[in-house]
Amino acid sequence: MPQDFYKDLIDSLYDGVYFVDAERNLTYWNRGAQRISGYSADEVLGRSCADNLLMHVDQTGTQLCLSGCPLDSTIKDGIPREAEVFLHHKDGHRVPVSIRIAPMRDKAGRIIGAVEIFTDNSAKLDIIHELKVLKNMALADPLTGLGNRRFASLEFERAVTALRRFQMPFGLLFVDIDNFKDVNDTYGHEVGDRVLVMVAKTLTYALRSADRVSRWGGEEFIALVPGVDAAMFRTVAERMRRLVETTALPLPDGLLRVTVSVGGSLAVAADTLESLTERADALMYRSKNAGRNCTTLDDA
Ligand code: GH3
Ligand code: MG
Ligand code: MG
Repeated sequence: MPQDFYKDLIDSLYDGVYFVDAERNLTYWNRGAQRISGYSADEVLGRSCADNLLMHVDQTGTQLCLSGCPLDSTIKDGIPREAEVFLHHKDGHRVPVSIRIAPMRDKAGRIIGAVEIFTDNSAKLDIIHELKVLKNMALADPLTGLGNRRFASLEFERAVTALRRFQMPFGLLFVDIDNFKDVNDTYGHEVGDRVLVMVAKTLTYALRSADRVSRWGGEEFIALVPGVDAAMFRTVAERMRRLVETTALPLPDGLLRVTVSVGGSLAVAADTLESLTERADALMYRSKNAGRNCTTLDDA
């Protein structure tokens, strides 16, 4: 088969596929990789995958480039690997993907690099679909595409009814971007808006499919997290905070990072959206006072 046949074949795959050589320099990047990551082949070929490019993080937000890159391990030991990670989209937000890595060998069997195949996490694509539906029902925030306050209040009613009738627990997280005024003042309102979109998408992707995130106003978001005990609630809250922390908006003069302060409260049967939000907001302020970029929950 001619070389072009294989290139066209890989290009037509829905999954993202890329090759790295033994130094982890990118030597191939298919169209699926471009679709999922936003980066074209021109922008990535020849660069190192460790070079602030995809910046994979795991479920806890740990940067894999720094703490044991699976590509690097496979190049060293020849063992294929699989993982659920988040990659960095060109627009800054994090995208959940399943990755599979295999070594590439020359005719003599020596490892000369590795191939990574990555797939969009389809459960998260359902969330995107749902957000499109919201838009048509005047329940979406126009800038971020997240649910608006009205959506939050409908989702709260649903969750509190399940709590009262079936003792199904849920929690509310209040998320506020740290020093966001400085972002606007330094980079302008338009970059500020892009940061809001980046954080909104990252929060959405950090959630499980039953969780709901809305824009409460300005640079404030709330997430309703059903079916959690205190430990799981903390895990979800920390994952959101960590994923935002490891997210970056590429600007001409470098990467712009922001952090969030999080407050979270588990609902009681007597709660209204206002009473629960007020508690979570007050706990969020404790995170601000503790130095920002942290999580305070009411179980502590
Ligand atoms: P803190 O860490 O204490 O939360 O500080 P902060 O600067 O984030 O908080 P503050 O409430 O002082 O500022 C919030 C800023 O958010 C002020 C406002 O101009 C900006 N903001 C609110 N909505 C939008 C928006 O839709 N787009 C942009 N670009 N900025 C917005
Ligand atoms: Mg605020
Ligand atoms: Mg703020």
